[in-house]
Amino acid sequence: MNQDNNSVNASSGEQADAQPAAPGEAEGATTPVLSAEPAAPTLAAELAAPTVSRAYRCQCERPVFLRNSECLACHTPLGYVIERLGVVPLAPAEGGGAQPDTFTVFGDPHGKTYRRCVNFLTPAGCNWMVPAAREGEQLPPDTHGLAPGYCLACSVTRTIPDLSVEGNGELWLKLETAKRRLISQLLALGLPVVSRHADAVHGLAFDFLSNTPGGPHVMTGHQDGVITLNAEEAEDAVRERIRAEMREPYRTLLGHFRHEIGHYYWDLLVQPTQWIDDFRALFGDERADYAAALQTHYEQGPPPDWADRFVSSYASTHPWEDWAETWAHYLHMADTADTAMSFGVDATNVELTSDLFTLDDLWQPDDPDAGSFLDFVNGWVLLTNVLNELSRSMGQPDYYPFVMPRAAVGKLQFIHRVVTQQRPGDAPSMVMAADIEPEPTQEQEPGSESPAQPEPQPQASS
Ligand SMILES: [Zn+2]
Ligand SMILES: [Zn+2]
Ligand SMILES: [Zn+2]
Repeated sequence: MNQDNNSVNASSGEQADAQPAAPGEAEGATTPVLSAEPAAPTLAAELAAPTVSRAYRCQCERPVFLRNSECLACHTPLGYVIERLGVVPLAPAEGGGAQPDTFTVFGDPHGKTYRRCVNFLTPAGCNWMVPAAREGEQLPPDTHGLAPGYCLACSVTRTIPDLSVEGNGELWLKLETAKRRLISQLLALGLPVVSRHADAVHGLAFDFLSNTPGGPHVMTGHQDGVITLNAEEAEDAVRERIRAEMREPYRTLLGHFRHEIGHYYWDLLVQPTQWIDDFRALFGDERADYAAALQTHYEQGPPPDWADRFVSSYASTHPWEDWAETWAHYLHMADTADTAMSFGVDATNVELTSDLFTLDDLWQPDDPDAGSFLDFVNGWVLLTNVLNELSRSMGQPDYYPFVMPRAAVGKLQFIHRVVTQQRPGDAPSMVMAADIEPEPTQEQEPGSESPAQPEPQPQASS
């Protein structure tokens, strides 16, 4: 059971190790240096990370973490509130028609009321809050698109593992924990997260499926907003075996989610927009035969120079996979950099094992944001050198088992621009998906060349 410091997990109520500065597992693993001081200005400036803080605090000022539902020290209830983009302390709602079992954010007694997600009490162990109405009020508009009683993160789950099968509850918890981290980051980045309940055709849905005796093997993949994951990927021994067999340096649930959601956002933010031409210039022409590309990859392996051009060997398969792999990388970088900054991790005295990147490595070095993006990438290089040394100190595999090629830096900047410019209000030149006709896709035979095609499992995301 992964436990965070100073607090209790939503699912089990077990007390975690109370040593305040001990490195935690999982959620806490990205916080090798935990400091009560404000983030070190040096690295913070250097990273210029694109999202928001991962350091949350209880009303008693102690640090709390993404999956906590109660402060271990003062027993204040905690929950994830979307408007606050983080875990916040809660107080029972009082007065003003407050319903039973509802909460307000601590210190804001007249503010919005929330109740716990239905999955707080299931093996999913959800600590997210659902907007609730006071007596006599209409249901708040931000419950649109939610399954009744469920938070947004749980509302995008369409199929869960069969809980009558022993062990599946534990797998489901791991899947949902990783998915909540994914969704919280997407929200922080300002990316649209639209459930199937809000958009029955293009909305997001996750199916966590298990292999059945005699049935087809469940493929991990994305199709038209539906992300399928083989639930056995949540079994550490199975996933590690596949990782070793496929010679992948990195294979995690979160990595799968970040890769597959990349396909979803390509459909939404790139394919039907002005970005498609730049995409093709950087990543290649996605109209190339996808099935043939996969087959070539499996039969012949990656091109010999893949490491100079792609973030992973699988990215060399096809432009769609290069996009999804690079997109996942961007999310890895942004979340880890944010977490490091949030906790004041300082990597400025690192002895580098690789050169830093320059403006010449960027796709658009003249972009007004280019300098801070370059700082972000170089800060990442510094940070991962430290994190890898920390891992080696514990005899663990490298924290970041990649070498980022120069060619990937331009692609990452492209993704950064797609992400930042799609936000409402700061994207004057962005053509939104709804504003233009979709490009004709007749070159693609439905079901054979689509990126939505479930991917053969062993080569799925990294
Ligand atoms: Zn507390
Ligand atoms: Zn939930
Ligand atoms: Zn893929």
